[in-house]
Amino acid sequence: MKQVDAVIIGAGPAGGECARALAKAGYRVLLVEKEKDFAAKDFSSGGSTLEVLDDFDLPHSVVGAYCNQIKIASSQDAHCWQADKPVALVLDFQKLRRFLADDLSGHKGKVLLGWSFEAYEQQGGKALVRLKEAATGNTLSYETQVLIDATGTERKVLGGGKSPAAAIVGTGVEFLIEVPDDVYKRHADALSFFIGQKWMPQGYAWIFPMAANRLKVGVGRNFPHEQVVPHEASFRFYLDHLIASCIQTPDFKILDQHGKTIAYTLHQRDRYFEGNVLAIGDAVSTVNPLTFEGIRHALRCGRVAAKHITSYLEGKTRSFRRYQFEMRRSSGLHWLISEALTNKIYREADDEKVDLMLSALKTFSLSELKALVFDYRVGTAIRFVLNYQTRVIKNVFRFSGKKGIKPMELK
Ligand SMILES: Cc1cc2nc3c(=O)[nH]c(=O)nc-3n(C[C@H](O)[C@H](O)[C@H](O)COP(=O)(O)OP(=O)(O)OC[C@H]3O[C@@H](n4cnc5c(N)ncnc54)[C@H](O)[C@@H]3O)c2cc1C
Repeated sequence: MKQVDAVIIGAGPAGGECARALAKAGYRVLLVEKEKDFAAKDFSSGGSTLEVLDDFDLPHSVVGAYCNQIKIASSQDAHCWQADKPVALVLDFQKLRRFLADDLSGHKGKVLLGWSFEAYEQQGGKALVRLKEAATGNTLSYETQVLIDATGTERKVLGGGKSPAAAIVGTGVEFLIEVPDDVYKRHADALSFFIGQKWMPQGYAWIFPMAANRLKVGVGRNFPHEQVVPHEASFRFYLDHLIASCIQTPDFKILDQHGKTIAYTLHQRDRYFEGNVLAIGDAVSTVNPLTFEGIRHALRCGRVAAKHITSYLEGKTRSFRRYQFEMRRSSGLHWLISEALTNKIYREADDEKVDLMLSALKTFSLSELKALVFDYRVGTAIRFVLNYQTRVIKNVFRFSGKKGIKPMELK
């Protein structure tokens, strides 16, 4: 039986950041990951803001590419917001997770790769955690003061591996492809998003650059078990379409294929803690339901949790109620608005209205766009909705056989 201060199950951004913060504070930390290395299940596209580097003391080596532009195309229209310096970046998910785990070395932290959480029980105020190695079937037990569920949407520890009863579910499938120079250059500088039925009904598609002639090409659909907007069942159908329309060459190589389904619990009604066991990151729905951007929020949650765990280990608090309160306060209203927008935008069956959404966005400056899609600012969201509704009303009056939108070719 080994003894530690904290056992963290799951070495995603939430678990990695929490483990790193606790280890740096001098605690004995065990970070457990079921995959045998970080190259496996490299599922996240990694689109993020520039600020993530400074906010979480991350090195440039975890960045796949920097972007000066954000492009959005709908079925009939397209727009590009451009700056003369980077405005966003693409994290290399594999390198990011490896960096966070490596940062434990030199402290009292240890990483177990290829080991899965099996079960835990309470004994004398401590949690006894049983782990199993996938390759050998060997088991190990640890006694810990705090047990942390950072297993993401799988919610294996505190959630018992059960899916939430009421959730917004999104499935994403992505290819990492190698492309010729000229194709890479066309996409190298931009986070490109594609909305509307032409690209992915009930969801969106994207092309993000990675280093060295590599692009991430993906499609994601919300409510994957519902036919709200008529669509082909196959995700591959839309991926092929995106590649044919925007990569425009058969001369590309698929290097990796990955995907995942994430369940965001409505109103973030997840269980945050029970005694000395707490959940962090996507296990408590930190991913934003509108954009399914989750890395920054998982990192932040990992850091906030580490602060409260430190207080607990120092004997200053006996409950994680304040952790729950702080998390709910910081994302609550923004995430509620995102839920409402998700139900409006991705359930919109009239494709012309999706074009009008883009037309409303086009009146925004780049910083206003960022305030909406990355900062979820309430005022900006209200302005967007008003702007869009005005266009819908104008379009109804203008509609007399002709459509009010001028089609534009994608680059
Ligand atoms: C296709 C796709 C694209 C995305 N693109 C973006 C994007 O561009 N930008 C962005 O910010 N976010 C994106 N996200 C969301 C983002 O990746 C997640 O929100 C984020 O990774 C959540 O971090 P986490 O640490 O909470 O969970 P995860 O990253 O899911 O980490 C959980 C870890 O726990 C491990 N685990 C699970 N069960 C066990 C067990 N029993 N024992 C041991 N270990 C276990 C898993 O293997 C995993 O490594 C995307 C998601 C998907 C699916």
